[in-house]
Amino acid sequence: MISKGKFGKFGGVFVPELLIPALEELEAAYLKYKDDDEFNNELNYYLKEFAGRPTALYHAENLSKKLGCKIYLKREDMLHTGAHKINNTLAQGLLAKYMGKTRLIAETGAGQHGIATAVVGALLGIPTEVYMGSEDVERQKLNVFRMELSNAAVLPVESGSRTLKDAINEAMRDWITNLKTTHYLIGSTMGPHPYPTMVKYFQSIIGQETKRQIMEKEGRLPDTIMACVGGGSNALGIFSEFIGDDEVELVGVEGGGHDIKSHRTGATLTMGTEGVLHGSLSYVLQNNDGQINEAHSVSAGLDYPGVGPEHAYLKDTSRACYDAVTDQEALEGFRLLSKTEGIIPALESAHAIAYAKKYAEKKENKGKIIIINLSGRGDKDMDLVSRQIGG
Ligand SMILES: *Cc1c(COP(=O)(O)O)cnc(C)c1O
Repeated sequence: MISKGKFGKFGGVFVPELLIPALEELEAAYLKYKDDDEFNNELNYYLKEFAGRPTALYHAENLSKKLGCKIYLKREDMLHTGAHKINNTLAQGLLAKYMGKTRLIAETGAGQHGIATAVVGALLGIPTEVYMGSEDVERQKLNVFRMELSNAAVLPVESGSRTLKDAINEAMRDWITNLKTTHYLIGSTMGPHPYPTMVKYFQSIIGQETKRQIMEKEGRLPDTIMACVGGGSNALGIFSEFIGDDEVELVGVEGGGHDIKSHRTGATLTMGTEGVLHGSLSYVLQNNDGQINEAHSVSAGLDYPGVGPEHAYLKDTSRACYDAVTDQEALEGFRLLSKTEGIIPALESAHAIAYAKKYAEKKENKGKIIIINLSGRGDKDMDLVSRQIGG
């Protein structure tokens, strides 16, 4: 049954045989419930009343004046738990409930996806377990506490580099053993089919609202849409409604780390090569033997050596373009938005702000209408940023 899920040559289902029935069951349920009135009514209720949708499309006048473009911010930072991730965790959590699953598992790096999953587990009354590299457990004590407050069990992973990619391996292993009862809640547009397609669909609410809002405010489409890219879900969420509008330029901004050209970067599309990671073919940061490099970015959400397969396709077909900004530039973007607008962005989102600044400096881009997807708020990054730039 799994035939879709290909984006050109990218995507697919590169998993052990044992997982195929579970992926087929998930695809069938997704296709059934995405058009089911009861499911959609319940999901829309929670998106509105629990998560806080719709989010504003805010005209950032001070930043616009400073940069010489007309800049709008899609305020995903205003959602419950502070970022766009809740759109997807609510939808998948509800889907799991409709499928009769009694247990959620997830994996998390810095903890953001773990928290967004934990609160949904609490809301829907589904026991939730979150795999997290023991290194990350140590670094992110507050986030571990947040998850535990919402009833989730955090399971430290001691293998490999004891970070996100090891937690992903462990979650896959768990799922294989507990297919009947358990839904594996993947947090971005990555993994085997149907995840990349399904997560994009659940995040496309961002693009739908944005299109309606920009038509109301400007009476026309924007010139450019920018979003940061980790696994790629906030970017695909806002791109989704505009991919067919060729006149709208789509830009994905990756975390370049300290030095984009070093092997310790997070810039998968900018610097990576084709390879299979976590169940699908995409671009990957790997060495000549195909061993996965450890990614690096100042923002935990962009610190992943893979990227969703649809982005690989959008890059190869030139429908979207991708670039990276460094840690240093992202920190400047963080400051810029905080100072000009009184809006403190997540470090991930600050990458898109930093890119917008460079973009607006070019003569040919002056006066353009730009929408930046502000994927999350910066509260979680206070500690790190205060150490980096001294508050
Ligand atoms: C997790 C996260 C990201 C990166 O994930 P995508 O799937 O690429 O969107 C970006 N911004 C914020 C605020 C995040 O929490």
